[in-house]
Amino acid sequence: MNILSRVVTSGLLIFLLVVGAGCSTSSLFTDKPYKETQFLMDTIIEITAYGNGNEAGVKAAFAEFKRINELTNRFDESSQVSKINQAAGQEKVQVDPDVITMLKLARSRSEQLNGALDVSVGALTELWSVGHKGEFVPSDAEIKALLPLVNFQLIEIDDKANTVFLPKAGMRIDLGAVAKGYADRKAIDALKAGGIKSALVNAGGDVRIIGKRPDGQPWRIGVQDPRDSEGIAAKIALADWDVLETSGDYQRFFIKDDVRYSHIIDPRTGYQPREIASVTIVAKADNNVDILSTAMFVLGVEKGQQLLKQYPGTEAIFITTDGKKIITPGLEGKIEL
Ligand code: AMP
Ligand code: MG
Repeated sequence: MNILSRVVTSGLLIFLLVVGAGCSTSSLFTDKPYKETQFLMDTIIEITAYGNGNEAGVKAAFAEFKRINELTNRFDESSQVSKINQAAGQEKVQVDPDVITMLKLARSRSEQLNGALDVSVGALTELWSVGHKGEFVPSDAEIKALLPLVNFQLIEIDDKANTVFLPKAGMRIDLGAVAKGYADRKAIDALKAGGIKSALVNAGGDVRIIGKRPDGQPWRIGVQDPRDSEGIAAKIALADWDVLETSGDYQRFFIKDDVRYSHIIDPRTGYQPREIASVTIVAKADNNVDILSTAMFVLGVEKGQQLLKQYPGTEAIFITTDGKKIITPGLEGKIEL
């Protein structure tokens, strides 16, 4: 199987399984869902909404995904992120306020999480191009040469003029870890603006919900087993939380000489972290918890758990590459493993 088909196949399989709530009275299901699936942002996006105006709400939610994708897609030369990258070392670029919001959100995460998450990792992700260059492993010298270009503190963001400047030639922004969750959030806003009170948005593992299922039961989500595309490693009811996001080494990767190379890079070393196979975060949307899973993947179980304490009420399920499942204390009794 060539790398492209493998990547697309794994992309198709990563999305979380939405598990039925079980014993429910069919008469309570008079409310018919409107459900639509689209392939966007390199993943499968599935939106389900109940109640009056659900179809219009779902369309408005997809329009948000399209809009955020057009702003952030670094594979599209005309996106705003590409314009920022093309102007690196030369000039500042005027962008949409949403791009500024995403960059500021990412910067605060980088500060809180020891630089494990860093959107200026683009020079490295471009070099590796996991999923786009076959089984290419760069040399140590190539990686080391790019490390000085990776530093979130260098990104100049002017949130009054809405401009962004990358001061060094060769610097690259990669919003791959940020845009999906942000679009997810915007999609939820669009559904709420349309009066929707029960909905689920699943963007390839980044899940957000509104309310409960129409039968009054919480939404239940199956977290995929990172080493078995059809297996479920954990089941969780989103009763206390409305955001669930996963980062893993099984979504976009290749294996060469028995070593797995995934799409997540430690910005501090230039190499893939290898302690974790997948990490899932559950949280309250109000706590502004986006993009924690990518950072937790880089930090590993111990450091990750320690730094996660900065976000009270936010829990994590770590599945290590040697098959251990570790959950934070707030998940005890609230998860099926
Ligand atoms: P996610 O699957 O949400 O964890 O996002 C992973 C994507 O974020 C990758 O495909 C890259 O585009 C980008 N990325 C990889 N490593 C990092 C990192 N350490 N910090 C920020 N973005 C990253
Ligand atoms: Mg993510």
